[in-house]
Amino acid sequence: MPLSQLSQDEALFRDSVYEFADGEIRPLVREMDEHAKIPPTLLPRLFDLGVMGIEVPETYGGAGATFFHSVLAVEALSRVDPSIGVLVDVQNTLVINALLRWGNEAQKSAYLPKLASGTIGAYALSEAGSGSDAFAMASRGTDQSGGFVLNGRKLWITNANEASLFIVFANVNPEAGYRGITSFLVERGFKGFTVGKKEDKLGIRASSTCELLLEDCHVPRENVLGEVGKGYKVAIETLNEGRIGIGAQMVGLAQGALDATIHYVKERKQFGKPIADFQAVQFQLARAATDVEAARLMVYNAARLRDAGQPFLKEAAMCKLFSSEVAERVSSLAVNLFGGYGFVKDYPVEKFYRDAKIGQIYEGTSNLQLQTIAKAIL
Ligand SMILES: Cc1cc2nc3c(=O)[nH]c(=O)nc-3n(C[C@H](O)[C@H](O)[C@H](O)COP(=O)(O)OP(=O)(O)OC[C@H]3O[C@@H](n4cnc5c(N)ncnc54)[C@H](O)[C@@H]3O)c2cc1C
Repeated sequence: MPLSQLSQDEALFRDSVYEFADGEIRPLVREMDEHAKIPPTLLPRLFDLGVMGIEVPETYGGAGATFFHSVLAVEALSRVDPSIGVLVDVQNTLVINALLRWGNEAQKSAYLPKLASGTIGAYALSEAGSGSDAFAMASRGTDQSGGFVLNGRKLWITNANEASLFIVFANVNPEAGYRGITSFLVERGFKGFTVGKKEDKLGIRASSTCELLLEDCHVPRENVLGEVGKGYKVAIETLNEGRIGIGAQMVGLAQGALDATIHYVKERKQFGKPIADFQAVQFQLARAATDVEAARLMVYNAARLRDAGQPFLKEAAMCKLFSSEVAERVSSLAVNLFGGYGFVKDYPVEKFYRDAKIGQIYEGTSNLQLQTIAKAIL
């Protein structure tokens, strides 16, 4: 089957998500960017749309669909607003994904129905001193009767403002190095847990990115996700998959910038004709469309490999690396082809340009993706 050919169900799903994004999210994009906030009324509508529990089995109240469906949803949303794209991405490809893979039956029964129906999740690995070197984290967990007491600070946590459930990583046995890292399911209401300062960002401004404070935060033993000391595995394996979602976010973003530019160059006249009539402009757009097509094929391939249970590590790293570069290139071209109008906020392309930058940073910077690819091929 051709890689980009969607089944009837996949096509219907993607179209319904894009229709929602186009009709319901597009009118809010500028305001959300300016106020750096997602209107709370939009969140329940995302749950109604069926994009917040895509892989959650129907028995737990989810859509029982595939990882590929998550990729389609993130792409379709990011074509309109990459901030909503990442909200849905973190929920599905990191939080729900980790629970499905590492959660025990009690944890799945307790949290999956909530995540599919109204609870937003966040994934808290990074800290001020540990980003690329995530396992150098300073957050600590102390084993006490009945559970663990967490202390530390997490930084850059997407969805933190809206989330009620956090997957938090802390080291419970620093002498064992990374083999002490453990992942915990932390509810917003747990004693000693606080969402701190929200970052004021260059792009994806509507997506909340906050600090988390763990001050003698009590987590019951039954909320250890996976085994004690195996948090490093939870982190590596979920991020390996999550970065395919970031690839999808970047493909959607590039497509959104290209859509807006194709529309604009047909309308804008200079020298007595639409600027789309100039071959130089046509060739630039043809190259951009080729870039987007190549990035999409790489993302779809990685996602389909993952769903087929085949190795996908190298393909996931490649698709994130390439898609984020394509997003930057295409959104930069979009600004150029809009001329002065590309530089102001009345048109959508300056925002796509700002939003593109994050693709090369989170869920492993481009250098870290190159490291993974090099390791796989050498
Ligand atoms: C908007 C936003 C949202 C985020 N959301 C989340 C989230 O939800 N959860 C979460 O846990 N984290 C999140 N992060 C954190 C993100 O994953 C980290 O910022 C990222 O991993 C990079 O870490 P760092 O910022 O510490 O940069 P550093 O690791 O300090 O890297 C700085 C530079 O050094 C380079 N570098 C580092 N090590 C090497 C090396 N070995 N070889 C070559 N070059 C290297 C990097 O490529 C980069 O260019 C988010 C960040 C942002 C900005």
